[in-house]
Amino acid sequence: MSTALIYDERFLHHKTGVGHPERPDRLRAVMQGLDEAGLLGRLHRPAFSKADPAYIQRLHQPEYVRRCLDSCQNNLPFMDTPDSTICVDSAEVALLAAGGVLEATKLVMAGSVDNAFCAVRPPGHHAEAGESMGFCLFGNIALAADHLTREQGLQRVAIVDFDVHHGNGTQHLLEDREDVLFISLHQEPITCYPGTGYAQEIGKAGGEGFTLNIPLASGGGDEIYREAFESQVLPRLADYRPEFLLISAGFDAAVEDPLAEMDVTTEGFEWMSRRLVEAAKTHCAGRLVSVLEGGYDLGALSRGVVAHVSALLEAGG
Ligand SMILES: [Zn+2]
Repeated sequence: MSTALIYDERFLHHKTGVGHPERPDRLRAVMQGLDEAGLLGRLHRPAFSKADPAYIQRLHQPEYVRRCLDSCQNNLPFMDTPDSTICVDSAEVALLAAGGVLEATKLVMAGSVDNAFCAVRPPGHHAEAGESMGFCLFGNIALAADHLTREQGLQRVAIVDFDVHHGNGTQHLLEDREDVLFISLHQEPITCYPGTGYAQEIGKAGGEGFTLNIPLASGGGDEIYREAFESQVLPRLADYRPEFLLISAGFDAAVEDPLAEMDVTTEGFEWMSRRLVEAAKTHCAGRLVSVLEGGYDLGALSRGVVAHVSALLEAGG
């Protein structure tokens, strides 16, 4: 039993331009960090392929998916917002990222591996049904949750998003459903992109009560996250008893990160990762897939991923 790593050099082909924080060097730093920590050789490296656009259209508008593909083919500079710069390969790379997360999810469901970390880009948790936001094209993790419920028959899937930014896309794509619990910890919306994720946003219609937003005051560090985990995240997971745990793992709450103002250390990320691994063991036989979102200081990102993947590897023992 083991931990899988989803990574492909083609993820580097999504070129975002000089000075853009969401850059190919992020994944180079992640892979170098895993290598230097001696972890790469312990990770399974499954083959995977691009997701079919029809898979993306389960949650995204067909017009939007078509527009992403066309915009890249036509070499347009960005998708919907100047934040989301694209190149000719970006939509194909985004399909590969979604396909990698899907494959990881299938492997864990099949019991081929215990858990998985997906070192993918572009990230996904800001992508809306018909609009790109915040460097994201397709909702990688929301699509995996949809697969688990609709295709694999699960009734309770939990997503914990500890990226420093609110996972607005994930929330909006799934907020009317009770078969996916979405928990997002993030820097408070009044001081941080994208300006949503208030505690009053709790889901809609049949999904009311299945979105838990935990905005945190800017400047908080490991202690504020620990308190939020112990008082809200872990009790809510225990109450929901997920059959599968998905993690939107962003490392931009790091003290060094240039895009936000939280002060989480590598030890803080390690602590959160261990608690989530334990929760998966307790509630769903360890079934866990973690997907990279943000993290823009290369050193902090690399150290955070190493700590996170170490926790996943220990779970598989
Ligand atoms: Zn982020």
